[in-house]
Amino acid sequence: MTSKSLQLFEKAKEYIPGGVNSPVRAFKAVGGQPLFIRRAKGAWIEDVDGNRYIDMINSWGPMILGHANKQVENAVRRAIKKSFSFGAPTAIEVEMARLITEMVPSVEKVRMVNSGTEATMSAIRVARGYTGREKILKFEGCYHGHGDSFLISAGSGAMTMGVPDSPGITKGTAIDTLTVPYNDIEAVKQIVAQNKGKIAALIIEPVVGNMGCVLPHTGFLQKLREICSEEGIVYIFDEVMTGFRLSAGGAQERFGVMPDMTTLGKIIGGGMPVGAYGGKTEIMNFVSPEGPVYQAGTLSGNPIAMAAGYAMLNQLRDKPEIYQQLDESGIELVSGLRKVMIEMGLNFTINQIGSMYSLFFTNSEVIDMETAKTSDTALFGRYFKTMLENRVYLAPSQFESLFISAAIDDRLIRKIVKAHRLSLETALKNA
Ligand SMILES: *Cc1c(COP(=O)(O)O)cnc(C)c1O
Repeated sequence: MTSKSLQLFEKAKEYIPGGVNSPVRAFKAVGGQPLFIRRAKGAWIEDVDGNRYIDMINSWGPMILGHANKQVENAVRRAIKKSFSFGAPTAIEVEMARLITEMVPSVEKVRMVNSGTEATMSAIRVARGYTGREKILKFEGCYHGHGDSFLISAGSGAMTMGVPDSPGITKGTAIDTLTVPYNDIEAVKQIVAQNKGKIAALIIEPVVGNMGCVLPHTGFLQKLREICSEEGIVYIFDEVMTGFRLSAGGAQERFGVMPDMTTLGKIIGGGMPVGAYGGKTEIMNFVSPEGPVYQAGTLSGNPIAMAAGYAMLNQLRDKPEIYQQLDESGIELVSGLRKVMIEMGLNFTINQIGSMYSLFFTNSEVIDMETAKTSDTALFGRYFKTMLENRVYLAPSQFESLFISAAIDDRLIRKIVKAHRLSLETALKNA
């Protein structure tokens, strides 16, 4: 029964475009109506009708330790008593910056912002200021937030000029964004050669979460490192999703490849709206007021958000065994899911690394956007619905990564695998 969610959605549509404050929440990609959530604790999330689900979204990443983590809660309680915002420097933001530079290997200086989108927008501005160049290079299917420069698709065929993904983005902006397929090193070399001396930054999700989970080919990130060094291109890892998730130092630590700049978000705020961008001192010193590149924020470094983020990151730094546990959970869950699908004789690909994974209904490997699109999204939609009926809350789109939190134990993994089997049986019957 989800009647209260349905009622709220009807009302929401009167006042909010599409009834939601971020499009994917509307369930359009899977059909059906979104659930309105009233609370969550640990691995479980509860909707306004009182249904409880095992949460595999985890607020799209931040709840890596499970919902309503006690230390984060206590930190927020303590901070809140001292007022909520000052718009002036605080001790906690210095501690936070120091902790980030300690945890994320390539980051020497860091600036706090309020979202992942702000982090990526600011990072490319700094890269442009630093290099004096205008173009950026990104990968098809990677998501870097909703900044104009990133909502650009590859042009057709030999055309190297990008085309806007959304009305409201100018052709002028599209001209400066180059796009190539993920994992395609030859395409990178070619486009870099065609735009010699013009590319300020190459930005990448070192592991993609936003076309579903897609891993970089062995050596891919390192080859990009070499190209960027040779060509004077600022190499940016967008670790808004992978930061503090694939290891305490993110994907860069896990793969041992150092970017020049890093963007962070999601986990960094412990559930509060926080983002950050950082990198080499030489580059970050271009940021105002040290340098000429302007970037500012009324609520940046907000003391409550910093308290939450600091409490989150401290736990992740102090307990490296969490990552061991998340890796083991990831492997155990995915092998359980695989076993069921093999028994059922289904075509599928599961991509997984650590606590990120995606299931694609395809017989193709999934290495980029084109191969991700071979997945049977209609079947995914039915599977999504039947998983909900079996009390597992997946991301409402094929092209999202799922997240395992530290609150998922062996017993819950068995529950998820069982729900998976029942859901697939129903989803296939309803084909
Ligand atoms: C979520 C995400 C963003 C955008 O972050 P917001 O906080 O939603 O603005 C940017 N890059 C990546 C890789 C993300 O996963």
